[in-house]
Amino acid sequence: MKALTQCWFTRMHVLAGRAHREEDGSHTGYCRHCERAIVSWDRSRWFLADGFNVTHLAETVGGRFLFVLDSFEEAVIARYPVPEGADAAALEALRKDLAERHSIDRPGSGLELHDSGAPVRRRTAAAQRVPALSRGGRFSAPA
Ligand SMILES: [Zn+2]
Repeated sequence: MKALTQCWFTRMHVLAGRAHREEDGSHTGYCRHCERAIVSWDRSRWFLADGFNVTHLAETVGGRFLFVLDSFEEAVIARYPVPEGADAAALEALRKDLAERHSIDRPGSGLELHDSGAPVRRRTAAAQRVPALSRGGRFSAPA
């Protein structure tokens, strides 16, 4: 590990340069302090993308995902696709299932569930574009 960087103390990673807009609505880039891969959904809070194949994000067909974030490690630990056409009840059931599976609601777990489809902004034309190559191997379980 490198010498402790500013963000190690502040737990605030700062985007260096431009963020890359991913098909799933997230943004990826590198932290200017620790130079590690980071990911954000609102471009204000950045999380380490360790344990998470950032390149894979760009190759994933656009869609909605639920992410489990470890707020202590500031890292994404799991990512689950939301089934196409899932209604509010189905989404709620999925959230509940994931919360249980990861013990997210346990006090002090430090885990947060984020929804890539939650932001109010509308999907752009780019986000709706389906990549020519659609690979398997999507994240379905924590590493
Ligand atoms: Zn950093």
